[in-house]
Amino acid sequence: MAKEKTSKTNVQARAQEKAQAALCRFCGHKAEVVLRVPPDGRKHMVRLCCERAGVAV
Ligand SMILES: [Zn+2]
Repeated sequence: MAKEKTSKTNVQARAQEKAQAALCRFCGHKAEVVLRVPPDGRKHMVRLCCERAGVAV
């Protein structure tokens, strides 16, 4: 469907690549942030990358 040589497609592809390659500034690994909602309803962001890396934030 999408042709590769169009600049628009290129920009989108590059932006996506950049977003995927974003590194966490705390642990230095690929950033993985999820929204966790415990039973008490106080949702908060959790950095899976840091949890995995064992980095205390
Ligand atoms: Zn991290």
